[in-house]
Amino acid sequence: VMPLKLNGFNETRWFRPLKLNQVLHLKSCYPDAKLIIGNSEVGVETKFKNAHYKVMISVTHVPELNTLKVEEDGIHIGSAVRLAQLQNFLKRVIAERDLPETSSCQAIVSQLKWFAGTQIRNVASVGGNICTASPISDLNPLWMAVGAKFQIIDVNSSVRTTLAKDFFLGYRKVDIKPDEILLSVILPWTRPFEFVKEFKQAHRREDDIALVNAGMRVYLRETEGKWIISDVSIVYGGVAAVPLSASTTENFLTGKKWNSELLDDTFNLLKEDIPLSENAPGGMVEFRRSLTLSFFFKFFLSVTHDMN
Ligand code: FAD
Repeated sequence: VMPLKLNGFNETRWFRPLKLNQVLHLKSCYPDAKLIIGNSEVGVETKFKNAHYKVMISVTHVPELNTLKVEEDGIHIGSAVRLAQLQNFLKRVIAERDLPETSSCQAIVSQLKWFAGTQIRNVASVGGNICTASPISDLNPLWMAVGAKFQIIDVNSSVRTTLAKDFFLGYRKVDIKPDEILLSVILPWTRPFEFVKEFKQAHRREDDIALVNAGMRVYLRETEGKWIISDVSIVYGGVAAVPLSASTTENFLTGKKWNSELLDDTFNLLKEDIPLSENAPGGMVEFRRSLTLSFFFKFFLSVTHDMN
């Protein structure tokens, strides 16, 4: 494999570097350059939405962006890793590790099952999905809920780390500057009695965009014979310009006993936390409102089942 540089029409340039330092050098020369992996977002933008990018850097062959490593703090996932590769890797990890450690991995694998179809999953990347920051991304609510960290590298090779939950700033706007790229994602292990679950409702099960999706996580601890919520994350996709944390509900739940008595108050608070207005983009507002509540109910049932 050789590094490539191709010139196209309208002064378009396409690079295929083979090393991370070459990517960073190109990014310092062309801060507006688009990184390309699966082209499943960029291809749609250029073909159907009249977007025109002068400089494109294909990073499919850069080893530093294609790592998949099991580490003490979790799984380190290079930003160019394809979704199908991630699926296969996580399935192996789930088979090898203690079950309680891999609740997040199981949720990601289950969500990927209904992410696009095989062809897209074979080419589409983890970083492409994150950096596109689509409000309906199936994975971004999960990265936030599981406490994933994103490592970002700048053109001088300095790396900074940010929580997924702080990364999505606005509609398709993320915490990455023109002289930076996403390097990797750190997916943390779960602890015993920490449960993660994924949700997605679409018109069709296969290869469809979600109406609403979500990632939820709860960590329970036993105090005086009762199971108390020590920490909880509830994040919805498809209900706002960015994946939305139900913060008031999370605060309310923290410290409460995990039993069915908390359901009524939780549903009322969720309605306040997720203010889907009558004219919200995407329509079907009543249905989507009821999905946000029923996802939590399903989560409650699933965790309660796993505890027994
Ligand atoms: P690309 O198009 O190659 O790049 C996307 C963007 O991310 C570009 O702006 C690029 O510059 C930027 N980028 C990529 N890597 C980096 C990096 N390391 N640092 C900084 N910026 C970076 N999405 C869902 O969530 N769920 C679905 O079910 C789903 N179904 C789909 C079905 C179809 C038919 C199609 C066409 C798309 C679907 N998508 C879906 C959206 C899309 O496939 C995903 O968002 C995919 O993960 C994008 O990855 P990619 O490698 O193809 O991105």
